[in-house]
Amino acid sequence: MNVPFLDLRAARSELRAEIDAALRRVADSGRYLMGPEVEAFEAEFAAYCGNAHCVAVGSGCDALELALRALGVGPGDEVLVPAGTFAGTWLAVSETGARPVPVETRETTRTMDPDRIEAALTPRTRAIVPVHLYGHPADMRPVEALAARHGLHIVEDAAQAHGAAYRGRRIGAAPSTAAFSFYPGKNLGAMGDGGAVVTADAALAGRVRLLRNYGSRVKYRHETRATNSRLDEMQAAVLRVKLARLDEWNARRAAVAERYLAALAGLEGVGLPRTAPWARTSWHLFVLRVRRREETRRRLTGAGIGTLIHYPVPPHLSPAYADLGYGPGAFPVTERLAGEVLSVPIGPHLPAEAVETVIAAVRAAVRDAAA
Ligand SMILES: *Cc1c(COP(=O)(O)O)cnc(C)c1O
Repeated sequence: MNVPFLDLRAARSELRAEIDAALRRVADSGRYLMGPEVEAFEAEFAAYCGNAHCVAVGSGCDALELALRALGVGPGDEVLVPAGTFAGTWLAVSETGARPVPVETRETTRTMDPDRIEAALTPRTRAIVPVHLYGHPADMRPVEALAARHGLHIVEDAAQAHGAAYRGRRIGAAPSTAAFSFYPGKNLGAMGDGGAVVTADAALAGRVRLLRNYGSRVKYRHETRATNSRLDEMQAAVLRVKLARLDEWNARRAAVAERYLAALAGLEGVGLPRTAPWARTSWHLFVLRVRRREETRRRLTGAGIGTLIHYPVPPHLSPAYADLGYGPGAFPVTERLAGEVLSVPIGPHLPAEAVETVIAAVRAAVRDAAA
């Protein structure tokens, strides 16, 4: 039995009739941008998160970038980001003209280490972008305390954390500002690109609305220089169908994770993801640490199990940021994790027998790689 890393057709199958109806409704409406579907989705997603405003945009990267720009972040500013994250977090920051300043990873949660933030501050620091990586919330309480003490903005990168919660409060809930992605593979995924800024700050929401639409509130009256980054009506209609399933699908992800955790516990040479007592993870990814990763991965591929590495090269070591001057060893925890992490299939549509196949294959691959 082959188990692909992710097969989005299963989600499509489960919702076929509803998605077809939603797409037909938009096609027949003659209204393809900035219409009723986007408006309804924004209201529904804001309510889901427990926040006042949602502004839908073209992607998760745009959501981060436009939220930062709306807060006035730009050239000459510094923004603290995790060293261990998807490059998109950094790229959104650098697209504003600001400089991403990495903060080392905390090994247990694999998110930004709050104890390392203070040392990264300079007089130019304007904002912090914690990332809820793999769906596990960053430890926000110390970040919020530090941001308040130094007058810094926080924009959470919630691209992997739809439905996750920190100390009983859903990610994106008031009073926070969070950027979400609706990339197809995310927990709430469109059939194309999409993103949103969720915030309690009405003025911020208003500025993002301006920035996503040519800097214009009234047609052909441009108040500021801006871009075009909109969620279209088709994607909004699809997302409305899927939002109604998000909690149930996240619960199915959690069930897969529970089974992996039980079945792989104590396996020599394998580290399992840990969930902090204050966290409810969205289980966007199930990420093992594997001592002999390359050999193990090769064996899993041979056994028909799809795996991915999230992420093989930390942004500070990628060519895109060579000019920042970080070399190997600058962020040892992040770099060690990058050399060991291995993501195995997880999702709301992974059949129970596929989960068992993955478990057996991981056990065999780890054993053979050690031999
Ligand atoms: C997916 C992702 C993004 C970017 O979202 P896009 O919609 O692909 O632009 C940013 N940060 C993280 C952590 C992500 O996983």
